[in-house]
Amino acid sequence: MKSLTATYSPKKILNVHKYCDGGWFWVKYSAHPYLGCSYGCLYCYEWDKKYTPYQDPDDFDRLVKVKDNAAELLAQELATQPVDIITLGDWQPVERKYRSSRKMLEIALELGFPVFINEKSPLITRDLDLLAKINRRSYVNVGFSIMTSQDDETRRLFEPKAPSIQSRFEAMEMISSAGIMTGTVFIPILPFIYDNEKNIKEVIKTTKQAGGKYVLDGGLTLFGYCKDKYYQALKSLDPKLIANYEKIYKDPNGLPFYYREVHSLVKKYCQQYRISNTIPRPVKFFPGKSKINKLVAEKVYLKARELQFQAESYYRILAYLKVAHGLDELDYDVFSLYQKEGSDGLKKIPGVGDKMAIVIEEVLADFK
Ligand code: SF4
Repeated sequence: MKSLTATYSPKKILNVHKYCDGGWFWVKYSAHPYLGCSYGCLYCYEWDKKYTPYQDPDDFDRLVKVKDNAAELLAQELATQPVDIITLGDWQPVERKYRSSRKMLEIALELGFPVFINEKSPLITRDLDLLAKINRRSYVNVGFSIMTSQDDETRRLFEPKAPSIQSRFEAMEMISSAGIMTGTVFIPILPFIYDNEKNIKEVIKTTKQAGGKYVLDGGLTLFGYCKDKYYQALKSLDPKLIANYEKIYKDPNGLPFYYREVHSLVKKYCQQYRISNTIPRPVKFFPGKSKINKLVAEKVYLKARELQFQAESYYRILAYLKVAHGLDELDYDVFSLYQKEGSDGLKKIPGVGDKMAIVIEEVLADFK
């Protein structure tokens, strides 16, 4: 069934996150022109009211609300912010008519903001001209959301109206051929469905063949109404799977330990196919001396991400994240600080004590 559309004029469009999502997409800002999504993937967390405030949550894929002032708002709000990566747009079918995402790209280009896009739609290639211009001025990365390399019944059960996998890989190839950073956002890896070695290997291999530069893995989030929707699909695939899910999702240690194994397979095949399992942090658009701080912060963020996958304690992960945030916001050069004051100087960075000073010293040694 085709989705309905309605327009409205919100007062605000830009989300300014306190910190970038270090270790993942390196995104500091987000802005999207549509509410709801006609693709209606059954694992999507946006079914829940927390993300999409519809009276009837099932309207999420039936009624797409178009923000008719998206580009104007973005221009106003972004103009007052320091340059950093923004994730913007949405190339679902309604974009063909409204072209709001294209207009938002024009704003990013004009203001010099780098862009990260996570897409399923090959319609993004319509805007390759603009993406190339932004890439020349600052940076663009287009990640394709892909969880299997197969366009079979199982995939269509969970993504009933999304574009075919083949069309996503073809779009990746076009973007890669234009010299733009692209790869697979292998999120969510559906437990007991797409976590097997064969699927993981195939996704990574096909990404490499399509010119992708990374495969970034992540798990499935289940809560509220999105859990209900997902379980509906799971039941129609195999009701016995529900018990397996309950086992790992109800045990506080179940999920981290489960994904630790899956992550190690992703790393193994990324190494085999010589493709990164993280997105390298771009820094060329940051002002002079902050570039090096951002690169040092990158290493600490990646350590925090890896600790998450190793099912380490929440407090240990948080300690690394705090230090990464501190490094990211420093307004003096961390190398000069270390040269002048040694580890005592490092301890002036928020969140850094004796142990974390050693971690930073190790990271700094990597740059020599
Ligand atoms: S394409 Fe993305 S936003 Fe749309 S339903 Fe699927 S997961 Fe959700």
